[in-house]
Amino acid sequence: MDTAIDGPTVPARYWQTLPDGRLQCDLCPRLCHLHEGQRGLCFVRARRDDAMVLTTYGRSSGFCIDPIEKKPLNHFLPGTPVFSFGTAGCNLTCKFCQNWDISKAREVEKLNAPAGPRQIAQAARQLDCRSVAFTYNDPVIFLEYAVDTARACRELGLKTVAVTAGYITPAARSEFFDAIDAANVDLKSFNDGFYRALCGARLADILDTIAWIKAQGRVWLELTTLLIPGENDSDAEIDALSRWVKAELGPDVPLHFSAFHPDWRMRDKPPTPPATLTRARSIARGNGLHHVYTGNVHDPEGGSTCCHACGTRLIGRDWYELSDWRLDATGACTTCGTPLAGVFAPTPGTWGRRRQPVRFAAG
Ligand code: SF4
Repeated sequence: MDTAIDGPTVPARYWQTLPDGRLQCDLCPRLCHLHEGQRGLCFVRARRDDAMVLTTYGRSSGFCIDPIEKKPLNHFLPGTPVFSFGTAGCNLTCKFCQNWDISKAREVEKLNAPAGPRQIAQAARQLDCRSVAFTYNDPVIFLEYAVDTARACRELGLKTVAVTAGYITPAARSEFFDAIDAANVDLKSFNDGFYRALCGARLADILDTIAWIKAQGRVWLELTTLLIPGENDSDAEIDALSRWVKAELGPDVPLHFSAFHPDWRMRDKPPTPPATLTRARSIARGNGLHHVYTGNVHDPEGGSTCCHACGTRLIGRDWYELSDWRLDATGACTTCGTPLAGVFAPTPGTWGRRRQPVRFAAG
């Protein structure tokens, strides 16, 4: 495997020189210590010429227009198209990774879609997207590219979305989350042993990021928990997780329970039965969460949004297709007037379930 740092790079932020001469990356809690020529665990941040650099700025693994519900975000401009991209690498080591072809990519030079921040923002606007998403791999590790792109999007009136595991240091998270408008953060488990053994991370750091995002109040926040049979799907764990969400974040932060498919280094587990997702949803709703969804399965009831006050189905969903829409122009229930938490346009988007790959012209 060629790991030489010989491609284009940009200066990276959030690092320091240690007394022993190594550089410490302060972007994520892993705090990699690097000698000259070494890459961090995420592979895309590295030490070159006594400074930290990012090796994936302006280079993507590909662009696609997705439904915003696919991120998943159910309370952020429903029905609208989101211009989505990722790069390569990841700062977690999840054995069950569902995007491993991108997150484990080591051949950064094969990132085949060069595009700068302004080019991305302009393309998204020309293609009538309402937002741009940093997704497919964790955008924390390409912070400089994501932040510049988010700023370019804001100049053109576009929102931005981060799909992330939330593994970022307090030092870096202000800059990162100040730049974006909505986030779906993976809360992969409520068990620190799970995070350490299967993801190479620590639960406390993730909870800290999530609570901080909510307390700041600037970014629309939704959470996703991928339920893996026998690993994180017990009643007790789902109960503890949803109680924490209610107590620390309040009842209106949407929680998505999604289905696992055997992949990467976890092929010995079966796919998540739909009944597990329904059970988890029932426990979390029983603990007082207003908006709990099932994902990666066909479940119109578990995918729809209801008014927590009167029970009216406000937004019906069948996969990523919207059916019912019973919100007024201010985002309130048309039956009882209770506002729905989230970010809503006066009318729903009409993008549907389509996925549309986008190619930039070379050069
Ligand atoms: S962002 Fe990458 S280089 Fe920096 S600490 Fe995390 S894994 Fe290591």
